[in-house]
Amino acid sequence: MKAVYTPDHLRHDPKVELERSVAHSPWEHIGRGEIIKDVLSADDRFEVVAPSQWGTDPITAVHDPGLLRFLDGAWQEYQRVVGDTREVVPEVFQMQGLRNKMSAGSEPSAIQGRLGYWSFEITTPLTEGTYVASRAAVDTAMTAMQFVLDGERSAYGLCRPPGHHATTSLYGGYCFFNNAAVVAHHVASTRGVKVAVLDVDYHHGNGTQEIFYDRDDVLYVSLHGDPARAYPYAIGHGDETGAGRGLGANLNIPLPVGTDDDAYSSALDTALRKISSFGAGFLVVSLGLDTFVTDPICDLALTTEGFRAHGAMVASLGVPTVVLQEGGYDVPNLGINAQSWLVGLGA
Ligand SMILES: [Zn+2]
Repeated sequence: MKAVYTPDHLRHDPKVELERSVAHSPWEHIGRGEIIKDVLSADDRFEVVAPSQWGTDPITAVHDPGLLRFLDGAWQEYQRVVGDTREVVPEVFQMQGLRNKMSAGSEPSAIQGRLGYWSFEITTPLTEGTYVASRAAVDTAMTAMQFVLDGERSAYGLCRPPGHHATTSLYGGYCFFNNAAVVAHHVASTRGVKVAVLDVDYHHGNGTQEIFYDRDDVLYVSLHGDPARAYPYAIGHGDETGAGRGLGANLNIPLPVGTDDDAYSSALDTALRKISSFGAGFLVVSLGLDTFVTDPICDLALTTEGFRAHGAMVASLGVPTVVLQEGGYDVPNLGINAQSWLVGLGA
């Protein structure tokens, strides 16, 4: 299996994160990408290749061009205006309640205000090379997609930073551009096939859901920790089924604490039946491995062997499949877990 990787991911290099009201070293860090690359490089079943460049058009096809303009230079502007900082995080969010009885308001002019206009939370610092790394993650996803469009049965994009929390106009949740949504939209809009996004990250992919919520050409299916207890809390419930033309093209399967391999397989079977009945001709998998039993920030109980079985279940759909990396924070086990899932898929 082709595995697309670029060292450009190292340019997004936070050293601190404010999460659960504590400042600590970040869960999402450069070691995640490196351990997956190291494990796949040592396995003959994988061929690690560099991405080609796709420019910004595929990004602005799903994202507000203002988000791209903002991310391109926000860190640098903050250094000029506010002063020397390694990480940059927002202070003020432009919440609707701030402007009750007034117009919605436009993008603030100050960099401090713009940060809170283009993001929705504070665990996702910008660093000097975040924009370069985020662009490279999209190139990685698009290159893996192209291998599948050219006839490979499946391919893997080692995307870092991940993407599924990024909405049309907001970054957050360690995500800047929505790699999976960029690929899904590109295939659906240029190939005339229906596309399914299967999101198996522990966290609900709120960004992917939001981007496709009113569309009937892209199905979003997610298995995730119930938002009653799990990030991003505000979205990911079972009764969110799509809107307008997209009604019925969104399926959320919230999972209880401690869900194990067998219970997960049963939920995954429901997801795969939905994808089959939708008639998807192309599949994008948002592969998060934070469902692992010892993941430090999640509470499901999947195993390395379980990931292999779940990859095999997805392969049984018989649909051309591009797999894109999302989360996974038990870093010592992250490489072998990605390998196991992809070998199950048929690497
Ligand atoms: Zn996650």
